[in-house]
Amino acid sequence: MANLGIAKNTIEIIQKYDFVFQKRFGQNFLVDTHVLEKIIQAAGLTKEDMVLEIGPGIGTMTQYLAEYAGRVTAVEIDSNLIPILKETLKDYDNVTVINEDILKVDVAALAEQYNGGRPIKVVANLPYYITTPIIMGLFESHVPIDNITVMVQKEVAERMQAGPGTKNYGALSLAVQYYAEPYIVANVPPNCFIPRPNVGSAVIRLTRHETMPVQVKDEKLMFALIRASFNQRRKTLQNSLSNSGELSFSKEEIGTAIEKMGLSPSVRGEALTLEQFAKLADVLGESRNER
Ligand code: SAM
Repeated sequence: MANLGIAKNTIEIIQKYDFVFQKRFGQNFLVDTHVLEKIIQAAGLTKEDMVLEIGPGIGTMTQYLAEYAGRVTAVEIDSNLIPILKETLKDYDNVTVINEDILKVDVAALAEQYNGGRPIKVVANLPYYITTPIIMGLFESHVPIDNITVMVQKEVAERMQAGPGTKNYGALSLAVQYYAEPYIVANVPPNCFIPRPNVGSAVIRLTRHETMPVQVKDEKLMFALIRASFNQRRKTLQNSLSNSGELSFSKEEIGTAIEKMGLSPSVRGEALTLEQFAKLADVLGESRNER
């Protein structure tokens, strides 16, 4: 089968099937063999690996994954792509295509079925409209995962990798870094896709922490504090937490907690590290229990 990472071959197959691109599914197909090779290399694939691919499209990356990994399970929402995938993947007996919405798939059950519950790798050129729910869904459902290597919007990759005190630092940085170590592998310009997206892209690898970087008694409370802090990021931490409808701490209670942590009363949430948010959740959790 021809390499679909070459634009001419992608155009040929699209024309053969009269395929119509669906904007609502974020369909931009990768046509750059160097980028494809970089993704494969970054994922560190071996024949021992089971890979979950989200949104195989016409099977461009799936062909590479099938060559380098042991097993590939590819989940594609658009039923118009299924007959195309049948043709483009016909040379491989280690690929299973599932016509489903990834947000409705039980990934833990797939890992169990195809990999005996051992950690899987996730590789995808993601549909950008659902990047965050896909990645957070994978982490929060505690699916056994080794790493996630994905193409995302460039700004989103930068937010995932950002540290405290920078303009890109926010709830997404903390959520991702709680679960994984992010590393931006490459920036990818719009001309590497058919059709060209309106935004720049980047490949990012998220390597799951073997042991969590912070210990927190109430994970939910920590994430609620993080969300509230960045909802009003120009306000002080004390004000943004006490204004939040999601939390029920008085301004005094928050002030005492901030003081207990040795922070300035005028500190903003954007200055806090993950460790400090974890500590704040523990201090406020304790104060709530003592009420
Ligand atoms: N992997 C191909 C490539 O690299 O050329 C296609 C990538 S394209 C950016 C995103 C793919 O995700 C499309 O094929 C699209 O139909 C699929 N997709 C969109 N939403 C989806 C969902 N909720 N579940 C599964 N696949 C989805």
